[in-house]
Amino acid sequence: MITTLSELQVYDKSLLPIADKVLAAERLSFKEGMQLFNTKDIPTVARLADIVRERKVGKKAYFVHSLRLSQTNICYVGCTFCGFQRKFGEEGVWDYELSDVWEYIKTHGHPELTEVHISSGHHPKKDWQYYLDLTAGLTERGLQVKAWTAAEIHHFTKITKPRMSYKEVLSELKDAGLVAMPGGGAEIFAERVRKKIAKNKVNSEGWLEVHRVAHNLGIRTNATMLYGHIETLEERLDHMMQLRNLQDETAGFFSFIPLAFQPDNNDLAKELKKTEFTTGLDDLRNLAIARIILDNFDHIKGYWIMITPELTQISLSAGVSDIDGTIKDERIAHASGAITELGMTEASLIKLIKNVGRVPVKRDALYNELQVY
Ligand code: SF4
Repeated sequence: MITTLSELQVYDKSLLPIADKVLAAERLSFKEGMQLFNTKDIPTVARLADIVRERKVGKKAYFVHSLRLSQTNICYVGCTFCGFQRKFGEEGVWDYELSDVWEYIKTHGHPELTEVHISSGHHPKKDWQYYLDLTAGLTERGLQVKAWTAAEIHHFTKITKPRMSYKEVLSELKDAGLVAMPGGGAEIFAERVRKKIAKNKVNSEGWLEVHRVAHNLGIRTNATMLYGHIETLEERLDHMMQLRNLQDETAGFFSFIPLAFQPDNNDLAKELKKTEFTTGLDDLRNLAIARIILDNFDHIKGYWIMITPELTQISLSAGVSDIDGTIKDERIAHASGAITELGMTEASLIKLIKNVGRVPVKRDALYNELQVY
């Protein structure tokens, strides 16, 4: 591991004080974070992130056997970046009853599968019992249920009668078997942006509060950030800072997952006349800065579905220690233009990690190590 400034070879000399702090495992300020976003010396930023990564996990890189369950694409929220949502009766709509879900699990399940990750729409008519039965039924089938974004938890409080609190909703889901939560719905915390891209979704304060309550109940969660649309670099960093503050308070997050905006089939892409994906350099810079700033998160995740397996492999040298996993049957990113496959095999994930000299570790939804390769 690099331990001195001379080994690091910093090209942008204004980064030297920051490099010093990273080598000494000291926390960076907002101003220093912006310096990392504004420098052209991305190789130094990546190397600094790699130092932080190695300090956390050594040579290990993690993946999971995960099945995506999107039991419906019916959604009334209308986020402008989303090509997944449908209204009743629209072409391409689907809506599973519980019996359809069990059939889906029978078809897509396999002995190695540990985690079912639910990503779906905010259905305006399904009742609260449906979600409890869904969570319990998946648990009974031997799966770890990682489900319900903070935005969905907020939605659930609205469909319960009398209206339940975040704590009550989360407690009932936990009793039904929920083991962890994904990090979706965070988008960008800056309300200026949120109002334009996700105005009907839980606000940032609500998103953070749901995760705070979940952590206090012992439910571990993840956190995302949607970038590459109309947000500023300051707003990206502010998003990370707010997550760092909450993690200081609760220590309940497992991983941070930057999600690159997908430029197809959605209103925001049309409005911005955007047809290009985020650049590889921006994706890498973002992951690396996240690794340096979020010093209290165990993992930064490279989400290969959105940034491609090739760039994910490179990101293992820029702060990433988790590449999610098989992600069988992903539909949300693909509905908005993702060009990657609908899943990867365990063998491909292991090869991807081993080819850059890292040690693949198969984990479960709670980051228990199942096998080291
Ligand atoms: S991102 Fe989620 S909440 Fe927003 S419209 Fe799409 S499915 Fe609905």
